[in-house]
Amino acid sequence: MSRPLPPPEDVPDVPVFARHDHARCAEGALAAAEAMAAAAGLRLTPVRRRTLEILLESHRAMGAYEVLERLAAEGFGRQPPVAYRALDFLVEQGFAHRIRRLNAFAACTRPGTDHQPVFLICRGCNAVAEAPGAEARAAVEAAATAVGFRVERASLEAAGLCPACAGAAAASSDAVR
Ligand SMILES: [Zn+2]
Ligand SMILES: [Zn+2]
Ligand SMILES: [Zn+2]
Repeated sequence: MSRPLPPPEDVPDVPVFARHDHARCAEGALAAAEAMAAAAGLRLTPVRRRTLEILLESHRAMGAYEVLERLAAEGFGRQPPVAYRALDFLVEQGFAHRIRRLNAFAACTRPGTDHQPVFLICRGCNAVAEAPGAEARAAVEAAATAVGFRVERASLEAAGLCPACAGAAAASSDAVR
């Protein structure tokens, strides 16, 4: 595990909550994952690749069972480990992230970069965006160190409403009035 990672600044950020050319966005993420897997000598097997493609269909987090149902419908088998193993692989390699709050998975929008994002999770549509998390993590570390606590894992997730869902909520509350 010594492959050098480009600095996060080198990878354009994906405007998850804004209108964008998502086909290009998904293609780019898949190509990056393929290149990284090849460089690391890892096999992006058909089920791993298909699982990533399914996650890349949108920026929404998907539960393992939803992924499993899709895989089963496409003939990859009905055994839960099929989906779990593929998802674990994608998370380990940084191609996808585990979203703990939703017990679900989302494709990474900047695979190949060393990053520990803060996840912005829409409770309306399950869309997940990644915001830079270095400063927030440093703050958590500092607060922990101050009380002699050693952080082993911190997942930073914020729940709320994306612009589209916030707009819809405002519109429907207007209609009620
Ligand atoms: Zn996109
Ligand atoms: Zn990511
Ligand atoms: Zn939303």
